[in-house]
Amino acid sequence: NTAHCYLQPVMHRPNLNVVTKAMTQKVLLEGKRCTGLVYEKNGKLNEVDCGKDVILSAGGIASPQILELSGIGRPSVLQQHGIKVQHELEAVGENFRDHLLPRAKWKLKVPKISYNTRAQGIGLVGQVLKYFATGKGFLSLPSSSLGAWLKTRPELATPDIQMQFIPYSVESAEKRKLHSFPGMTIACFQLRPESLGSVHIRSDDPYEHPAIRFNFLSDPIDVRTNIDGVKMMREIVDAKPMDPYRDEEFYPGKSVSSDDEIEHFLREECETGYHPMGTCRMGRGPNAVVDDQLKVHGLEGLRVADASIFPTMPSGNTNAPCIMVGEKAADLIKNSY
Ligand SMILES: Cc1cc2nc3c(=O)[nH]c(=O)nc-3n(C[C@H](O)[C@H](O)[C@H](O)COP(=O)(O)OP(=O)(O)OC[C@H]3O[C@@H](n4cnc5c(N)ncnc54)[C@H](O)[C@@H]3O)c2cc1C
Repeated sequence: NTAHCYLQPVMHRPNLNVVTKAMTQKVLLEGKRCTGLVYEKNGKLNEVDCGKDVILSAGGIASPQILELSGIGRPSVLQQHGIKVQHELEAVGENFRDHLLPRAKWKLKVPKISYNTRAQGIGLVGQVLKYFATGKGFLSLPSSSLGAWLKTRPELATPDIQMQFIPYSVESAEKRKLHSFPGMTIACFQLRPESLGSVHIRSDDPYEHPAIRFNFLSDPIDVRTNIDGVKMMREIVDAKPMDPYRDEEFYPGKSVSSDDEIEHFLREECETGYHPMGTCRMGRGPNAVVDDQLKVHGLEGLRVADASIFPTMPSGNTNAPCIMVGEKAADLIKNSY
């Protein structure tokens, strides 16, 4: 929890003012210098002047959106929505990557090892009490309690997929309602997908969500790796030591077996792993938005520090790398003044 670890200990500082429930609409430019920003709170627009650096940290979806709303980006995108081009930068909103996250689910023969059984009805009351008494149990679980980094092909130098083992199963990712029978889930994602998508504004209204084009599985290596990942999940669960525990795979189920069937499942049913990145990519040349000091190319006084600056996908989950970007950004900024 970055608010707990980084922000709360320094909230007493007189030079820190945190404004919450506020919506940044755009950053302000005077020529090629960023001079502040505009945010909305309680229906009122507020302008903040900045003599040094504005640091944009709105994440892989909203950081490119705010740049585009400010007139920084692809002229073709900005002009389409009536936004004056203040600073042309072709890569804003491009180079978008995310992890596609196929999940498979099994029924289990041993009820007590699944939280489906232990965290429903009176069991849920017990889990709530356990959490408040000890900080442990169902409510303390991270997104998965066990991970594995594996190679889909032996000749690879490093793993190319990550698996997450989850000791329960839910009806759908949106509803998150536990099944009434004991179940478990395995999710698997390709660590470094090649498919590139984009995030661009759909209008000049800051409240209109941008268009997110994932373009999942547009590169053949991503298709191959994801198919092999699904097969490896099954291999693990079908192994002999799992015999006492494993019941049937009920999702996607054995009717999804051939490569074509698995590819169809990946394209039609699988969804994001919520790791959006790359849309304000760090680097040199026309394919980059920020330099190695996190400064927006061609502008003074504007930096970006969040997952949008990742040049490519890290080999795993993205939260810790984002914290690392924040740490590095703090050092860069301190060293430059
Ligand atoms: C459901 C879910 C589960 C995840 N699980 C994991 C996990 O288990 N492990 C892991 O490593 N990663 C996980 N992630 C990914 C991880 O949370 C992200 O990679 C990381 O938080 C991204 O950090 P960021 O700083 O780039 O952006 P964010 O954390 O998204 O921060 C951006 C902030 O900017 C704010 N913001 C956006 N637009 C505006 C605006 N216009 N005005 C004002 N504020 C604005 C947002 O409200 C947000 O607080 C998960 C993500 C999701 C969504």
